[in-house]
Amino acid sequence: MRYVSTRRADDAGATFEDVLLSGLARDGGLFVPECWPDPFSSAEIEQLASLDYASLVGRLTKCFVGDAIETKALERMARECYAAFDHPATAPLTQLDSNLWLMELFHGPTLSFKDYALQLVGRLFDYVVASRGQHLTILGATSGDTGSAAIEACRGCDNLSIVILHPAGRVSEVQRRQMTTVDAPNVHNIAIEGTFDDCQALVKATFGDLTFRDANNLAAVNSINWARIMLQTVYYAYAALALGTGDRPARFAVPTGNFGNVYSGYVAAALGFPIAGMLIATNANDILARFFAGSGYRKNEVVASINPSMDIQVASNFERLLFELYGRDGAEVRTLINDLETGDGFNVSADKLAVARHHFAARRVEDEQALDCMARAWQQCGMLIDPHSATGLVVAEGNVTNMPTICLATAHPAKFPDAVEKATGIRPELPPALADLLQRPERVTQLPNDLAAVKEFVSLAAASHKEGKVA
Ligand SMILES: *Cc1c(COP(=O)(O)O)cnc(C)c1O
Repeated sequence: MRYVSTRRADDAGATFEDVLLSGLARDGGLFVPECWPDPFSSAEIEQLASLDYASLVGRLTKCFVGDAIETKALERMARECYAAFDHPATAPLTQLDSNLWLMELFHGPTLSFKDYALQLVGRLFDYVVASRGQHLTILGATSGDTGSAAIEACRGCDNLSIVILHPAGRVSEVQRRQMTTVDAPNVHNIAIEGTFDDCQALVKATFGDLTFRDANNLAAVNSINWARIMLQTVYYAYAALALGTGDRPARFAVPTGNFGNVYSGYVAAALGFPIAGMLIATNANDILARFFAGSGYRKNEVVASINPSMDIQVASNFERLLFELYGRDGAEVRTLINDLETGDGFNVSADKLAVARHHFAARRVEDEQALDCMARAWQQCGMLIDPHSATGLVVAEGNVTNMPTICLATAHPAKFPDAVEKATGIRPELPPALADLLQRPERVTQLPNDLAAVKEFVSLAAASHKEGKVA
């Protein structure tokens, strides 16, 4: 399997390993498979239904990974990492109403759905790099959940170091401590005196210095990495196999920010699993809801909400859907993205919008609606749900059909205790493995919003590995 960029300016045909390690294509586009694999037949689907989660990972990724990693090795890594999750079903389904289910994607070590892909991506990095006798330094910026999931995935990997920037004082205490209390010599946290946008700009500028990037063997684990998309398709397939059938396919409701998670559901449907479509939930940062309502794709200012991991105006992975809508024409995609970045955004034709609406519907959910939904889930089902998951549930409840609808619970309620307490009066407790999180010592370096200072730190972190000591 080869990969191409959504902008097709740099079309050499990347391998899975290139795609895994580089994240973004050199022309600024996102990697997608050169062609989609044939969907599984109904006989194959029937046979896949009997597999456990780790075996399903092996079967689903086989067509995308090619020869880069042996299926047996991949399955073994999957088995190891999901065995450490705190639920035997990995992604359990809980029934809320006659046709309504919650899929709990918070049983990994950092309590958000991001663990489901990143835990394995960390191992894949380590595996590929070790086979090349290399060492990599992973560099990223986080507004909360990605940083801790990436750190937890790379801790203890001999061939990796990781440096994560977060905005000082602008992530929640639980989120910060999940990053800064990890006691591993290859983990480095920087608190930047600035905003998340400042952090992201510093990371971009560091990668932009190609000499520095090569000298320090830098790699990225941002949400546009194809390997993350690929591994997220597994829980959609797993749930669709459990609850959907060819005659009565399942629908998913997905709290959405960067369009990564929900796009994985679209890929799972393309692979032939019994999936009827995706309901997208946005918060006040509603660029996707406006697009699907027919108002075009244009940015607004980012607004703070009770579901901060969805406070994103430009949904990076949406470029992958545009690529398909425009017949895989990279020049068209380049024009659209340019209009978005430098102009007033763009509209798509009625027929393209109809194709998009065949797969997706989207709705904006206000903070009060999410809080009200959390209160009702507590009163009616005795369940505490987090403010991100609540947005999907609000959309599902407003769009009832006779199909089974599966709402993705993307975070554990204890990750956002203030919102949960506000809605229900109950302060959720952290799971046992994290019960002493608030007492653990923190390791973090505060730096000014200054590129030279960040680069100096990164090169020290990269070098400390070679010398086998802690920076
Ligand atoms: C990252 C995140 C989201 C948004 O996911 P996307 O893939 O960016 O759409 C939703 N909920 C939680 C809890 C998250 O951490």
